[in-house]
Amino acid sequence: MKSWSKSLQSNYGTPVLELVSGKGATVIDSKGNQYLDFLAGIATNVLGHAHPAVVKAVSKQIATLGHVSNLYAHPNVIALAEKLVKMTGDKSARVFFCNSGAEANEAALKISRKTGHTRIVATKDSFHGRTMGALSLTGQPEKSKAFKPLIKGVTHVPYGDMGAMLKKVNKKTAMVIVEPIMGEAGVIVPPHGYLQALRELCDDTGALLVFDCVQTGMGRTGDWFGYEYSGIKPDVITLAKGLGGGLPLGAMIALGDSAELFQPGDHGSTFGGNPVATAAALAVIETIESKKLLKRVGDVGVELMADLALIEGVRSVRGAGLLIGIEFSAPIAKQVAAQCQKNGVLVNGNSDTVIRIAPPLIISDRDVAKFLKIFTESAHEVAK
Ligand SMILES: *Cc1c(COP(=O)(O)O)cnc(C)c1O
Repeated sequence: MKSWSKSLQSNYGTPVLELVSGKGATVIDSKGNQYLDFLAGIATNVLGHAHPAVVKAVSKQIATLGHVSNLYAHPNVIALAEKLVKMTGDKSARVFFCNSGAEANEAALKISRKTGHTRIVATKDSFHGRTMGALSLTGQPEKSKAFKPLIKGVTHVPYGDMGAMLKKVNKKTAMVIVEPIMGEAGVIVPPHGYLQALRELCDDTGALLVFDCVQTGMGRTGDWFGYEYSGIKPDVITLAKGLGGGLPLGAMIALGDSAELFQPGDHGSTFGGNPVATAAALAVIETIESKKLLKRVGDVGVELMADLALIEGVRSVRGAGLLIGIEFSAPIAKQVAAQCQKNGVLVNGNSDTVIRIAPPLIISDRDVAKFLKIFTESAHEVAK
């Protein structure tokens, strides 16, 4: 696509497809081809494309009052914060709104420094965003090496390795940040008991436990937040991706005592909690509730994972709910993803061996069946 590189910077690869419209789990490109969207804007369009509830809420809000800044309150920002507080199950939780996952993690980084400690422990291969603070947390040296120096005092330990955590987390640690399931790294599920052990360690040392739920939040795993299966609560939750149902919106939620750490003047964002983005988020949450999508996501996910595991050449299938990593025995993931696209299904080739899928939470049984058929055919076409 020549027109892309003539006006946009080269930080992304040049896209092959140009998408022009969508409805539900279907998108249409500029040549009129249809695709079943099993990536949903990278785990973002939780209600699919052009969902009537989101369209209605956003249209009404932009026609009424589009932006107020945080010098003024607005009913949506309060209603959404109240919803999120309720979803955490902790009445003392308090919300800060921003516009992206990186910004949510920047806010977590800043709130952790208000503990009076400076050191941070994160995990290798993690993804927490691309701004300088978030990039310092991200455990992928190839993404940060050109931009050094990063923030000082950040240590990365192998994901899922409690022994390594015990060696690095101590009374000087401001925060430990982990993804409940690593998304960008290829949908890596931690060993049983990991999140609980992190909770204990942070309780012992006083470090804030931060769960980056940017990808695993908003129903993606069949719970509101990707850590809920563990039964424990973190001190800080970061959200973005699915929160705005396609509109840019992020949040950093502090629970318990950490909700008191930010004081007036400590942090801010002009667009954070914008009336239109928060209208979309309210519509998303209300729809997930009224359509009982959390349970549906859990059920569909279990079945889909079982079916995917039966495909020839698939070594393992992992994830939770509708965040699923499909690992092939051979390094064919990128070719299979390209073949799927040719055959009318959008998925993400995460690495040479792993494909990630994150369909809209409203996905129908019919679309799941169609996906399985095309995905299986595509895998066979590449393998033969
Ligand atoms: C996508 C992602 C981010 C970064 O979000 P942006 O909105 O791209 O800044 C952070 N953490 C996780 C777990 C993510 O998946």
